[in-house]
Amino acid sequence: MKVLVLGAGVIGAATAFFLARRGAAVAIVERAAPACAASGKAGGFLALDWCDGLPRAPLSRRSFGLHGELARDAADALGHRPVETWLVTASGGGEPAAWLGPGFHLVERLGEPTTTALVDPARLTCWLVERAVGAGARLLTGTPEGLEPEGRGWRLRLAGTTLRAEAVVLALGPWTNLARIRVKLPPVFALLGHSLRFELAEPLPPRVLFARLDPVRHGLDELEIYPRADGSVVVAGLSRPARPPAEPTAVGPDPGAAERLLAAARAVLPALSHARRVEPRACLRPVSADGTPLLGPVPGRPGLWLATGHGPWGILEGPASGELLADLLLGATPKFDPRPFDPARPTARP
Ligand SMILES: Cc1cc2nc3c(=O)[nH]c(=O)nc-3n(C[C@H](O)[C@H](O)[C@H](O)COP(=O)(O)OP(=O)(O)OC[C@H]3O[C@@H](n4cnc5c(N)ncnc54)[C@H](O)[C@@H]3O)c2cc1C
Repeated sequence: MKVLVLGAGVIGAATAFFLARRGAAVAIVERAAPACAASGKAGGFLALDWCDGLPRAPLSRRSFGLHGELARDAADALGHRPVETWLVTASGGGEPAAWLGPGFHLVERLGEPTTTALVDPARLTCWLVERAVGAGARLLTGTPEGLEPEGRGWRLRLAGTTLRAEAVVLALGPWTNLARIRVKLPPVFALLGHSLRFELAEPLPPRVLFARLDPVRHGLDELEIYPRADGSVVVAGLSRPARPPAEPTAVGPDPGAAERLLAAARAVLPALSHARRVEPRACLRPVSADGTPLLGPVPGRPGLWLATGHGPWGILEGPASGELLADLLLGATPKFDPRPFDPARPTARP
């Protein structure tokens, strides 16, 4: 089966990986570069059971396990790191810790190394693309100029050439509704998130922090701290709804956001003051109308598939999303009920 996968974020990369591994003829079409958007800049936090009770729970749980398998396949090249996870607050209660900033306390253990982990999302996404290419997929970069139905399949114009396939998977993240396709798709909204990437001389202990702050004193109400195995630390916070720019690489931080995040991060974890380098970043989370990912066929458009809308959990759920798309496209039995993710569900359109 010939499949075009549009977008080389973690969702497109994982879809191409599972399809190519099972013998499909895959071409990945990426407008800029693999992992250039949220999939390269996310925190990379993974949790087994934080989505329990939600329609997406089976996707999260399956994917948490797949991350472990991929990390073993990649011989630790993905930065996979089991972590303990703590809630930290600036208000009273809890235990003080010598390594926390003055006034901060450890309040609650939110996850164990068996249930929470980190991965380097850029490395993961690029590795999935490389492995897909190793299994025969092609990676093409450029801006698609038009996608149209042709016979029983689809035709895509790209840089003066025409690509044809029986199926097309749109894995365009927040750019889903900007693609030049004359098809009405369910809406995908964008939530801009800020982050800082610190480079430290030594890795911090494997301890993720979710910090609740005092907005008056700290300039924001919460932030997350992700210490990676390679000595880098990603601090994320400050989100707001946004409109995606046409060019994915043009997403940038709001004025003053990096300074606010930096001051608050150092207040929570003074070790961050010794960083050799601090890089401010911003990226967009793709969010569906009901908050559940859109994974499946576009209603009324045979051969056109959607894979997006993962909001804050796209890195976690990337592997199982790619596996599900491959199962559905190739006629295999999915590992869990795909119906909650069907793009045709009424709640996918507001
Ligand atoms: C600050 C922040 C922190 C986060 N932390 C975490 C976390 O800790 N854990 C977690 O699980 N998730 C996290 N997320 C969420 C996660 O990053 C996203 O859900 C995920 O990366 C979305 O992946 P995607 O492949 O759908 O989209 P994207 O990564 O946005 O990829 C879409 C791709 O499509 C390409 N594209 C756009 N238009 C076209 C076109 N016309 N043709 C071809 N290609 C095109 C883009 O260049 C891009 O490469 C975080 C997000 C943010 C913003």
